[in-house]
This record gives sequence, structure tokens and C-alpha cells, in this order.
Amino acid sequence: MMDEIKVKLEVEGIKKAVLILSGGIDSSTLLYYLLSNNYSIHCLTFDYGQRHKREIEAASKIVEEAKRLGEVTHKIVDITSIHNLISSGALTGNKDVPKAFYTEEIQKMTIVPNRNMIMLSIAVGYAVKINAKDVFYAAHKSDYSIYPDCRKEFIKALDTAVYLGNLWNPVEIKAPFVDMTKDEIIKLGLKLGVPYEYTWSCYEGKERPCLSCGTCLERTEAFLLNNVKDPLLSDEEWEEAVRIYKEKKAEYEGRDK
Ligand SMILES: [Zn+2]
Repeated sequence: MMDEIKVKLEVEGIKKAVLILSGGIDSSTLLYYLLSNNYSIHCLTFDYGQRHKREIEAASKIVEEAKRLGEVTHKIVDITSIHNLISSGALTGNKDVPKAFYTEEIQKMTIVPNRNMIMLSIAVGYAVKINAKDVFYAAHKSDYSIYPDCRKEFIKALDTAVYLGNLWNPVEIKAPFVDMTKDEIIKLGLKLGVPYEYTWSCYEGKERPCLSCGTCLERTEAFLLNNVKDPLLSDEEWEEAVRIYKEKKAEYEGRDK
């Protein structure tokens, strides 16, 4: 059975890759983008004890939807114990998630030290095991001013280290969205038919998005820039999201005056 599948993949020119899928907008779009580029995708979703467990449910739902487009598998990887060692940030600890636009200071509160390095290392090990040549993750432009492990320099250095550490089974680390902003990613995703109604961004672990944390505001802004309602929200919620966005944006712009 396995041999048959392998032969089929080679004949059809399908490339095998591992993708770190969070269940948010960026990695869900990357999944659809790769499937439309003839990849078979093996997704890993990391459970690091985040407050927003809704993300993990979202990732599973997105995978179910994406199976219509190609071969997709999904594993959830529990790294809670590692995260208890390293995290005191707002995403897993007891600190409040800041209810404002991301300033540099606020965004730094959401850093989990070395998170991408840990997840990518595990993903590379998995790629070697299943004979995939590429590991993808959805680092993008809106993140890299603050999160150093979303920057090109980091990706290039880690790619070199991964190559040297796996000489007999070379694997490449790729982040094709690294120069794209969130609204550009959504623009691409809308063309690809990404079901954004199943994606999750809010850092609060509530039943519905809070609409006012940094990621909720960023999400509202990115849909507004595309002149599209966020399909995750009801009409009333979208109206409220836009109102909060405008209010917080005015606060943010007025903060140094
Ligand atoms: Zn939120």
C-alpha cells in the first residue's frame, strides 16, 4: 500500500511537505496555497498549553475542509511540558492579553522564547522520517519586526543548520509569505477559497472572538483592507469589530500626542 502511494506521488509530480498549521489565517492560507501548487501536506499543530485552544480545533476543521483539494494529514503535537519550562508570556501564563493595538512593547509580551525554533526542529525530524523534502511555516511581514524568529535571517540560518544536521536526508525550511502582510495573505486566500470562517485568531480562549485583543484588531484590519466582512463573525459582531477597530486605531494613533 505504502509503495503504491509513493509511486503514485512520483508519477504525478506531487511534492511532499510538512506544514506547521496553527489554525489561524496565515498557516491556513499557506495550506491552500501549497495544495494548489501540487504538494501533499502533512500538517503539525502544536499544543503548547495556549489559552486559545480554539486554534487547535480550527486547525482540525481546516484540514477536514482542505482534504477536498488534495492529500492532507494532520497530527497534534503536545509540547505542553516544554512550554511550562520556557513560557511566562501572555499567551500561556496568567498575564492578561493586552486589549490594544500592538505597540512594540505590547507585542513583546506575547513572545514565547524560541517557539518557532522548537516547532521547526520537531517538524524537520518528522519530515526526515516521512521522506518530505520541505518544511513550511507561515512567517510573514506583519510579525517580523517584533518576533525575531519570523525574520529572513533566522530562516536562512536555520535552513543552513538543518541542512548540515541532516546531510543524508536534506530538508529545506521555507516561508513563502515572509514578504507579505496579513491583508495580502487574505487577498491570496480569498482567491484560493480558504474557508476563513473556520480559522481562529483571538488570543482569549473564549467561545467567540473578543474583537479587541491585538490579533483580533489585526484580523479586522486585514479584512477591512480587502473590503470583505470577516466570515467568522455574524453581521452584528462584524459591525462591533469595526467600531472597536476604529476606536482603538484612533487611540493608537493619538498615543504619542
Ligand atoms: Zn481577541
